[in-house]
Amino acid sequence: MANVRLEDIKRRFNNVTAIEDITFEIPDGEFWVLVGPSGCGKSTILRTIAGLESATSGKLFIGDRLVNNIPARQRDVAMVFQNYALYPHMTVAQNIAFGLQMRKFDAKTIQDRVVTVARSLSLEHLLDRKPKQLSGGQQQRVALGRAIAREPQVFLLDEPLSNLDAQLRDDTRAELKQLHQKLGITTIYVTHDQVEAMTLADKIVVLNNGRIQQIGEPQSIYGCPANRMVATFLGSPPMNILPAKFKNDAFDLGGQLLGIPGNIREELKPQQGQGFDLGIRPEHIYFNEPQRRRERREEEVVNSPLPTPNSPFLEVEVKVVEPLGRETLIRGGLVGSPGVLVNVQAGADVRLRSGDRLTLQLDMNQLFVFDASTGEALY
Ligand code: ATP
Repeated sequence: MANVRLEDIKRRFNNVTAIEDITFEIPDGEFWVLVGPSGCGKSTILRTIAGLESATSGKLFIGDRLVNNIPARQRDVAMVFQNYALYPHMTVAQNIAFGLQMRKFDAKTIQDRVVTVARSLSLEHLLDRKPKQLSGGQQQRVALGRAIAREPQVFLLDEPLSNLDAQLRDDTRAELKQLHQKLGITTIYVTHDQVEAMTLADKIVVLNNGRIQQIGEPQSIYGCPANRMVATFLGSPPMNILPAKFKNDAFDLGGQLLGIPGNIREELKPQQGQGFDLGIRPEHIYFNEPQRRRERREEEVVNSPLPTPNSPFLEVEVKVVEPLGRETLIRGGLVGSPGVLVNVQAGADVRLRSGDRLTLQLDMNQLFVFDASTGEALY
């Protein structure tokens, strides 16, 4: 097993810079997830570590070894791709054994490892089958098994669950986590799925446009995002972003005034008239359901109090009500700010309808303030 260290790695393809300034060190045995939108450079980083791409500049270490010029097969890493890439004419056992045979392990060792790996991935009963006789999830487990059997120093997984349906993806994700706990092999996992990132990672590396946005433990990134991109990428439904102007000691959102938490009011004072993006997660917004009169159910009365300066209240008009079983997602249009939507998580039993007016109460301790142009988190 080994730590993996990247120092200022850059990769250009002709005139396109796919990744740059990539610097991090993964301690031996940790599970790190590279996450970000399509094209942000995740796979390029992984392929560079694997030796399938070469860095344009920068240094890459696996263990204490500088591996920039070491070919892929001598790096002692195993990579699993989203399309499994199993050999269709070989059985499961032969697929798992293949890498060991190539490395000239003796027959007894190979046999033992195939059995051990198959057992750890619940594949024992499938060893004689060919890939096409397996489900997607089983094929993916074989691909993992083939990688594990080699006992590499580092595991590289590129969107390994993306071809599985939702239920299987959840199950396999949990299996992967268990497997890592059991084997303790340094693992680097690429995904654009923020749930996989949050649930699997010891540390998450959030990427955008080929650059690192933030590195940290899932909960700390979720709780303290470095910028608007990270804030909106992690979390489902995502953090609400509400454009506001700082005016007369309050945030002005299209005419609605939102109070400013005392701790930042003084700091913002010199910035009268400036625009900011406010961030608030759906789970940090509350409301009381409008009362409906029994005799005229369609009529609704919005709960007071009305928004005033220093208050944590905002008014929305309900656009969409999405029952999700355990909870309901409300999408409201911010009154006075055309096109600005506010997502709110509510209980399963809300009786709202499209067109209802709602007064939302924001947990002001959970309010983020982002620089409107750079997106940097200010507070
Ligand atoms: P996805 O989630 O869609 O797989 P990604 O985050 O893994 O995306 P990469 O595949 O690493 O992104 O690509 C990063 C950037 O580099 C993209 O702009 C991509 O178009 C570019 N790129 C990647 N490989 C090549 C290549 N061989 N030639 C030219 N450009 C490339």
